[in-house]
Amino acid sequence: LVSRKRQPENTHVCIGDTLIGAGEKTIVAGPCSVETEEQVMTVARSLKEQGVTLLRGGAFKPRTSPYDFQGLGETGLAILRRAADKYGLKVISEIVNPADMELAARYVDVVQVGARNMQNFELLKAAGDVQLPVFLKRGMSATVEEFLFAAEYIVSKGNSQVMLCERGIRTYEKWTRNTLDISAVPLLKQESHLPVFVDITHSIGRRDIQIPIAKAALAAGADGLMLEVHPDPAVALSDANQQIDIPQFESFMDHMRSAGLIA
Ligand code: PEP
Ligand code: MN
Repeated sequence: LVSRKRQPENTHVCIGDTLIGAGEKTIVAGPCSVETEEQVMTVARSLKEQGVTLLRGGAFKPRTSPYDFQGLGETGLAILRRAADKYGLKVISEIVNPADMELAARYVDVVQVGARNMQNFELLKAAGDVQLPVFLKRGMSATVEEFLFAAEYIVSKGNSQVMLCERGIRTYEKWTRNTLDISAVPLLKQESHLPVFVDITHSIGRRDIQIPIAKAALAAGADGLMLEVHPDPAVALSDANQQIDIPQFESFMDHMRSAGLIA
């Protein structure tokens, strides 16, 4: 169902007034984790100023260590909702438990399935049953074919509003957190009709090369970018080393606009 052979035209995903996959490039931005109301409000205000309509933030955090911050859960989803409603944004947030889809539907506009859950088939089926678009991230060790089969799980349940996100894969390279598989972008666009995003934060895990990576992603055909923005990354409860602050986000957006890459 996700194959371009079966459907030659691009799938458009509609989130509020934002149409994804129809030509214009979409930015999804926000903190790694929802930490406080003030933190999310600060980021949401900046998104609004920058004309970005999709606010991300993790409320259920799949952390490598059980001793790391696990997210605020439903409280976090409620904070995202309030910030989005105040600034006229839409919310995208990761859900990790199939049983939480109903909860998600009360707070979020887009359900994110994270890299660690790309082959959590019960979660994929639950995401296929929900009446919300799904933002599906590539597993860190998943092939492009496995990634597309994961999307197929969701679409085969009747939910065709699926976006794919390349977020880097594991290799021996250590100077980046993951290795951004740029070839996955044109491959996914060629093999599938679903919109394709590139997460320029988790893929490289560093701030200094974000602009050329963003340009490469869009040049390769990505429909949009995801990036993490935090008012004070140094004290972030997760991914402190890779999130950018508000002035850096503004300068990133200025740069992308002046390069004519986003509206
Ligand atoms: C995220 O986007 O919040 C995240 C945890 O990313 P990934 O699932 O790609 O690691
Ligand atoms: Mn993160």
